Formats: sequence, structure tokens, C-alpha cells
Amino acid sequence: MLNLSADMIKRLHRPHPVILQTDSLVDRSRVLDTLVNNLDGMAYRCRHDEQWTMLFVSTGCLELTGYGSDELIDNACTSWEELTHPEDRHRVREQIDLAIHARRRFSLQYRIVTAHGQTKWVHERGVAVVDEAGEPVIEGFIEDVTDRHLTQEALEHAELRYRHIFEHASEGIFQTTADGHYLAANPSLARMYGYAAPAELIADLSDIGRRLYVDASRRDDFRHLMETHGEVRNFESQVYRRDGTTIWISENAHVVRDAQGEFICYEGTVQDISERRSYQEQLERQANYDLLTGLPNRNLLNDRLDQAILRAGRLGYYLAVVFIDLDNFKFINDSLGHAAGDELLVEVAGRLRGCLRNSDTVARLGGDEFVLLLNDHYRVNSVISLLERVLAETRRPVRLAGREFQVGASIGVALYPGDGEDGETLLKHADVAMYAAKDRGRNNFQFFTRELNRMAEDRLTLEAAMRTALERDEFHVHYQPKVDHKRRIVGVEALARWHHPELGPISPDRFIPIAEETGLIVPLTDSILRQAFAAARDWNAASPQPIAIAVNLSPKLFLGDEIVARVSALLREAGLAPERVELEITESVFMGDGERVIGILRDFKDLGVALAMDDFGTGYSSLSYLRRFPLDVIKIDRSLVTGIEHEEELAMIARAVITLGQSLRKTVVAEGVENQAQFDFLRYQGCNEFQGYLISRPVPREAFTALLAAGGAIPA
Ligand code: C2E
Ligand code: CA
Ligand code: CA
Repeated sequence: MLNLSADMIKRLHRPHPVILQTDSLVDRSRVLDTLVNNLDGMAYRCRHDEQWTMLFVSTGCLELTGYGSDELIDNACTSWEELTHPEDRHRVREQIDLAIHARRRFSLQYRIVTAHGQTKWVHERGVAVVDEAGEPVIEGFIEDVTDRHLTQEALEHAELRYRHIFEHASEGIFQTTADGHYLAANPSLARMYGYAAPAELIADLSDIGRRLYVDASRRDDFRHLMETHGEVRNFESQVYRRDGTTIWISENAHVVRDAQGEFICYEGTVQDISERRSYQEQLERQANYDLLTGLPNRNLLNDRLDQAILRAGRLGYYLAVVFIDLDNFKFINDSLGHAAGDELLVEVAGRLRGCLRNSDTVARLGGDEFVLLLNDHYRVNSVISLLERVLAETRRPVRLAGREFQVGASIGVALYPGDGEDGETLLKHADVAMYAAKDRGRNNFQFFTRELNRMAEDRLTLEAAMRTALERDEFHVHYQPKVDHKRRIVGVEALARWHHPELGPISPDRFIPIAEETGLIVPLTDSILRQAFAAARDWNAASPQPIAIAVNLSPKLFLGDEIVARVSALLREAGLAPERVELEITESVFMGDGERVIGILRDFKDLGVALAMDDFGTGYSSLSYLRRFPLDVIKIDRSLVTGIEHEEELAMIARAVITLGQSLRKTVVAEGVENQAQFDFLRYQGCNEFQGYLISRPVPREAFTALLAAGGAIPA
């Protein structure tokens, strides 16, 4: 009965490989019998006729169809054609016929209806063969794939549903590689970024980090978050669209990994939040800025004030809270109208801004009231200079409606920490001080503290006096000799002196800082250099020994471009050789633009003058300067010399400085030498030159001329 072809056998045993080792026919048929009848599914042989008349079916038939083999064979009870689902019959016949015609095997899936009326999906594989009698028959195998089919179908539906979501979502959806290439993008994302289709976006946006984010570091932030948290939430950034315009987006994304935990891609969604963002910004502007002038309003001022107090507290600086009230605003507003009043406020706002550094704040409280926050002042004097400038700026005429107006301001100042520890108190006290300024006839500034007002007044008096003194050539120079270890005069330092007709002598420690803050340092230095160079020329003409003249140059002079040309011109004017001149500078010249300063120092070297580092040992990184800059002389600061004879630590530092200077081949000068013990110690350590009261106080020109004439050495 069992007459399956060899081909069939091969296929049948594929799921359970059985090796047929015997040629005996009986054995062979028994093995095949067992095999075929134990398969899940049904092996068959049928005729290629209208009913697929079954000639043989294996016992799996019952399980598959609910009919026993005898019920199916020869269509005893029903035929395979009848078992086949009516909707599939046509397709089944068509496909099998086609395969047979082409002498191919067939393989297809369709539905059958079982004896119990249940619909099952089956998979049939078969081939046409010729039987022992030479009749064409079909042999094959049919198995139940209902479960597999349903799963597959469910998968397909799910895939379809997801695809639908992907294609039609209003949010952008993407998958990208870690190095910033798109793997997938949906139409919504393409639209958002200005592309006609996802494929275009994927092809064009090849480097997300550099092409997409306006702030290129955003991609790094994104990756960093991904690496540390595996996801990003509401990640907001500004991005470029294809046409170069920008939008704001919010991303939610996560890392996709395979079952082994290997990275596959980043996947996420993108929302265009430009509208919300601009709305937010607008709200923020309205909440924090004055619409007319664009300056911070009271709200933001309070924030900044709190921050400024924290900062000043931490750094130990002064914070000045300055209340400004315009003097003629009401008059202008009433007589010229609101438009002119507004124009005036905008103009003043701009001028105030122009006076300050970026780290300072100008706020408008409303009306004609402004508040300044001046940060990082370590001396009251520099606040005073700044306020003078503010006052001058508000006083400058304003053109309104074709006419010029003088406005002016009454200004009140409270200083943190002295005048209050919190913002509210500081503002209140600045306001009180502002009323005091109004009482004093407007157009001036008043501190909250009386003592500071006196100081400001002194300071202003002094500044005015300095201007007059400069006009009248009242600044003089005293000269302090520098001697070698045998007390022979080898040089002299020029020191500025000012004797005011009424105020009496004023020390350089008072007037130099004011000169620096007001810019008067330029004409003052001119005057000092002119006198000192002339004196040095005469002394060198008279002395057999060369006498070097040392002059002090303020760091402020290094901010401009003219200093080298000025010194050079004054040398020529005096007829003094540059080799006789030593310029004393302090470390603070390097605080600004170091490169520029080095350039200036090189120019000075080219000119032929020597450079000395003054006050050495008081600064911060003295050693690196020494190596990098073309300096010839180191002056050990007086604070290191005073007490050197009985303080081991000072002695040690001085010894180190001297050794260092020697190894770098610099001339080492000690200043402030007041007694013999100091002189002896320093001389013993190898210091080259000495300056101080022990040798001589600074003296007028004639007195120094007399010292030289007496032999050029200063007796002990
Ligand atoms: P400095 O450049 O360190 O000048 C040395 C200061 O120490 C001078 O003070 C001098 O009189 C004083 N001194 C000299 N020997 C002794 C001593 O043995 N004991 C004591 N206790 N003091 C001594 P002075 O003349 O009051 O000048 C003070 C500072 O003002 C100078 O310090 C310098 O930084 C500055 N200065 C003076 N004249 C000028 C100038 O023409 N231009 C610039 N930019 N600054 C100047
Ligand atoms: Ca000096
Ligand atoms: Ca000094």
C-alpha cells in the first residue's frame, strides 16, 4: 500500500532525521510506515482530478481534518476538494495546476473546513509523479499552520498599525546612529525640518551634530544624557531647517538595544515648540524688561541685586547700588509731550549703559528713575570715578524736538556691605541718599554714609586741584639715590611730589590712584618724565660715572598705544641717551592683555631703555614673569626688606629672590633699606644695588646734584 516516492521520503523525514540503513523491503516499508504515521500532519497521494481523490492518506489525517483515512480515501465520505475552503478552492487548483504544468513542486497555504466545522490554515507541499501503473498522481504533505498563520497575521497587522502611526503621527519620529546619521525619519519630521520627504532628509542631513543644532554642543549633551541615563526627556534646542531658518524643538528619545544589550540606535520623537518658546520669551521679556528702554525692570533688578550681593560677599568687593533720578524730566515731559519724554528716557538709558561694564546692571524702575548695580569695586575711589562719568553723561545736552536740553541727575549711592546687607535696605538707603542729592541742589551724587560723602568730596576737591596743579606745573620730582655695595651712586629714582598751596604736601599714594582713575596720569607722567630726563641729562654730563634715572610708569599707561612714542619723544626733547633710563613697572601691567604688554615691553627694549620690575615679591606669579619678559632689574619690595634683619622668613624670601635674580642675570635692587643691618645682610647675599632712607631720603634736584658733586659716594 505504501508507495511513496524516494523524493517524498527524503522530504518527510527532514524534521526527524532517520537514517535508513537496510535494503530489506519489509524493513523499509515498516520504517516508512512508522515515520509517516507519526508525523504532525498528513502525507497523501491523490489523483489530479476534480475532487483531488485521495489514494492514500497517513493517520495524521484525523488530527488534521477530523476524518479518518478510510473516510477520505476514494472520497468515501468527503473529498479534499470539499474540505478545501470554498473561497480558496479556485486559487489552490490554479497554483497546483500551474506547478504541475511547469514540472515544479508546489507549496501553498490555504484554509480547510474540518469535520467539526472549524476553519484551519494548512500548508501543503507536493509534486506530481507517475505511479507504478504509469498513472499521473500527486504526492505531498499537508500540515496545520493555523497558529503560525494567526501569529504572522497579527504581526502583519501590528506592523501595519505601527507603520500607520509612524507615517501619520503629528510628531516627528526618528532613528539615528550614535555618530549622527539618520536611519529612519517620518514625514512629519521631514516637514518640520523643511524637506519634501523623509528620504530627502536622510540623504541630506548626514551630520546631525554639525548641521542640525544651532549650538553644536547640543549633540554632545544629547549623547552624554543617552550614555548616562539611556534616554532624554523634553530636550529643548534650537535647530536649523533646510532653508537655514531656525526653529525650537523638544526631543524625547531613548537608546535601542538588542537582546544582548548591544547598541542598535537612538530612537525618539521631536516636537516643534517654536511657538510656545516665543510666547514664553515674550512673557519673560514683559515680566523682566522695561518695554520702552529695553532695560531690566524692577523684577529683574531684584534678582540681579540678590546675585550681586552674593558675589560681593564671596569676593569681598564693594557693590554699589545707585539710585538715579533725572532732574528736568518732568519739565520736558510736560512741555514737550510724552513722545519727547520717551525719547529722552531711551537716550539716557543708552548713555547709562555706555558708562558701565557688561557685568554691571542698569535698570529702569519706572518714570525717570533708574538704578545701577556696580559690581567688583575694591575701592570706593573707583566707584566715585564711575559716578562722575555717569553724572557727566547725564549732563551732556540732549536734542529733543529740534532743541538742546540739559537734563542732569540726582544720584544716591548705597554700598554693600556697609550700608545694608540685603537688597531692600540697599535700595532704600540709595533712595534716601538720592533725596539728599536733590536737596543739595541736584546734579550731584551723595553716598548714604556721611563719612563716604566727605571722602567723595575730598576726592573731588583733590581731582579739581590736580587739574589746576597740572596747568600750573605744580608737580615736582624728588630723587632718591641708588648705590652699589661700596655706597657709590649708580642710579636714582624719580618720585613725584605735590605741595598744594592750601592743602599742603599730598603723598603720591593719594594722588597717583586718582590720576589713574581720571586719566590725569598721562599729563602727570609727561610732566614727571620731562623734569627727570632733563635732570638726568645734566647729571650725566657732569659725572664721570653714568647715572641711571629710574622713573615709575603706571599700568594704566599700558592701556593706550602711545606710551613708547611718548617716552621716546621726551628723551629726544631732553637730549638724554635711552641707555641712562630705567622704567619701573609693576606686575599688574600683565593683568590685562598680556601679549599686547609684551609687545610694548619689546618696543621699549628696542628703544634702548632698561626695564625694572618694581615691588617684586608682592604679586602672585612673579617667577614666570621673570623668565618670559625682557626685564633687566628686579626691585625687592620694601615690605620684604623691612624686618629682614630679625625675621627668618623674610630673610629666606629675600635670599631666594637674590639667588634667582643672579641666575637669570638680572640686576637686583633692594628698596626701603633703613638700617645698616639690612644693608649688610643684603650685601652679603649678593644684592647689587641699595635704595632707602639709610642711604638718603628722596631729595630735590639741587640736593642730589650736590651729592654727586661731593664725589658720588654716600658716606656711612
Ligand atoms: P615706589 O615706586 O615703590 O617708590 C618707593 C617709595 O618708597 C617712595 O614713596 C619712597 O619715598 C619710599 N621709600 C624709599 N626709601 C624708603 C625707606 O627706606 N623707608 C620707607 N618707609 N620708604 C622709603 P613715595 O615717594 O611716597 O611713592 C609712593 C609710590 O607712589 C611709589 O612707590 C610709586 O608707586 C608711586 N609713585 C611715585 N612717583 C610716581 C610717578 O612719578 N609715577 C608713578 N606712576 N607712580 C609714582
Ligand atoms: Ca618705584
Ligand atoms: Ca616699590
